[in-house]
Amino acid sequence: MSDSLMPLKGQVAVVTGASRGIGRAIASRLASEGADLVLGARGVDGVEAASAALAEEYPDGRFLPVGCDVSSWDSVSELMDRTVEKFEKIDFLINNAGITRDNLVMRMKKEEWDDVLAANLTGVFNTCRLAARQMLRQRAGRIVNITSVVGLLGNAGQVNYAASKGGIISLTYSLAREMASRGVLVNAVAPGFIETDMTAAMPEAAREAMSEGIPLARIGKPEEISALVAFLCGPGASYITGEVIRVDGGLAIGC
Ligand code: NAP
Repeated sequence: MSDSLMPLKGQVAVVTGASRGIGRAIASRLASEGADLVLGARGVDGVEAASAALAEEYPDGRFLPVGCDVSSWDSVSELMDRTVEKFEKIDFLINNAGITRDNLVMRMKKEEWDDVLAANLTGVFNTCRLAARQMLRQRAGRIVNITSVVGLLGNAGQVNYAASKGGIISLTYSLAREMASRGVLVNAVAPGFIETDMTAAMPEAAREAMSEGIPLARIGKPEEISALVAFLCGPGASYITGEVIRVDGGLAIGC
């Protein structure tokens, strides 16, 4: 394939939560544009299966599946060490791993708060902090954080999730300011309601009610998120940093 169709050839991307859903679609899209990939998730079987499928589809690509819990500093440290050991650099860090533990605040257990903040927000701090040294040394890098429109709008039953996603937006703004002078661009993508295991777990009535509020009148696909992530990693996004871009069918227009 010609290099113009492989704009990310020779570049190395770390994608967290790459075993399924949006993260799996991001890994696939970046691989299709030529990137080598490190695929992280807690379940080793999941990332190994995703990695094997990508290796079959893209025989010229290089893939490293790593069992990693982003909420653990030591686990992320090992992920970054193994990445640099194998690929000698980190061009893109895609912070996609995330969980929900929904409950109304009066019923929310402390563990439900702690687990979501640890995975969704501390996880992003851990990966950014541990990839930053390498990116600053390179004087280049792109970080894309997957937040949510819930971080902009709030959502009843999701104070933990909304706080974690709002935190990612503030982290993105601050990190973009810190790292701009060293050539590292930091942006966030805010999906709306996307068809994955995370949303499949919702009751049908709640899914229907949610879809009715979307101006484009349908649920989004993971590939509609991964297309933007690939753009933000590519040459066309060289003057974009500290931005939060919604991909939500219009759900949060004006926010
Ligand atoms: P998903 O289908 O549940 O997949 C989540 C992925 O994250 C899996 O690969 C999972 O693998 C991994 N993961 C979870 N906790 C982790 C941890 N502590 N460390 C490392 N990996 C972890 O979710 P999704 O719908 O694709 O969502 C992906 C991201 O998009 C999340 O950040 C989510 O908040 C965000 N988002 C989703 C939607 C939506 O409508 N789906 C909307 C807005 C934002 P393991 O379980 O094996 O670790």
